[in-house]
Amino acid sequence: MKKIPISFAAFCLLLSSCGNSETASLKKEAWGNVNGQEVHLYTLTNASGAYVKISNFGGVVQAIGVPDSKGEIADVALGFDTPQGYINYGPYFGTLIGRYGNRIAKGKFTLNGNEYTLATNNGVNHLHGGPTGFHDRIWKIEQIPAEKGNTALKLTYTSADGEEGYPGTLKVAVVYTWTKDNQLKIEYEAETDKPTVLNLTNHSYFNLSGGKDKTILGEIMTIHASRYTAVDETLIPTGELPEVAGTMMDFTSPKAIGRDIGELGGGLDGVHGGGYDHNFVLRDKPGELITAAFVYNPVSGRTLETLTTEPGIQFYTGNFLDGSFEGKGVVIGKHVGYCLETQHFPDSPNHPSFPSTTLLPGQKFQSTTIYKFGVRK
Ligand code: BGC
Repeated sequence: MKKIPISFAAFCLLLSSCGNSETASLKKEAWGNVNGQEVHLYTLTNASGAYVKISNFGGVVQAIGVPDSKGEIADVALGFDTPQGYINYGPYFGTLIGRYGNRIAKGKFTLNGNEYTLATNNGVNHLHGGPTGFHDRIWKIEQIPAEKGNTALKLTYTSADGEEGYPGTLKVAVVYTWTKDNQLKIEYEAETDKPTVLNLTNHSYFNLSGGKDKTILGEIMTIHASRYTAVDETLIPTGELPEVAGTMMDFTSPKAIGRDIGELGGGLDGVHGGGYDHNFVLRDKPGELITAAFVYNPVSGRTLETLTTEPGIQFYTGNFLDGSFEGKGVVIGKHVGYCLETQHFPDSPNHPSFPSTTLLPGQKFQSTTIYKFGVRK
């Protein structure tokens, strides 16, 4: 029989499914249209059958399927079935966030003597990069080589000078790697041609019950932070970094998320929507990868360790979710999931004492976060 020469890449394209070894696989599916452009969903599955689903629309992590202590795989990420769910939508389920994660006061900051005005989309403030931030963009996406048993996708986006009010053309690359041992590694890189500010993160919501528990209040959280950034009534940092010790903010030893959450219901903390929505201070500048948080679901046995090179982490308990819509068949009620958004501190461009979020031409911004899933028997 005559053999037809065919390259590995063409073979993968034919199958629409391929991995870098016999053990891991990548499947690409059409996922509908956004603004007349077709977007795709990529399923990265490792040898154990655990998977993540990622889209080039918003860089969304749409699903994370990991085993419980009995080996049963279930989806532990909140999300929507179609890209339409994500368009201009408030919760930012699993999306990439940029140029600036969290808030910039009144959408204004000054850099090198120039004042910049950003689009505002959260009362008077700018939130998560503005109304059409990185969560609402279609990214270029390609598979890149990865260690045996792992699968990696590289997403790139060029944000034009002036986009949402930010100075400089910003070239951003995000590599998502799904490893053989159930780690979702996210590596961010960015370069600019003018001085600018940035704070990149991912806005995944987790519920380690895999859809069984309606809230995450029973999950046991540890956050390795002795301070947090205090905020005003519009959730803008005051500049103070109070100690967590002896308060409801103390997660330095494992504690049920719901144990003290009731204390966040009234007074000034009413602005948090009755739950955690705080930046915890991990350190005074970015550095080596460290464990920022560890969560354990006592019923499913699933665990999640968050490691990062960032100086802060926003712990948000889905306070503003009100049960008025469904995502992937689940009613999205208050506290149905939590986010662990690794980041620089909110509103840093207006707080010279916070770790700097300025990026200059010639510098390369680099940051890594790992969501590492496991089980405790
Ligand atoms: C913010 C919340 C906001 C939420 C939007 C979080 O990162 O801290 O205040 O409501 O994102 O989904």
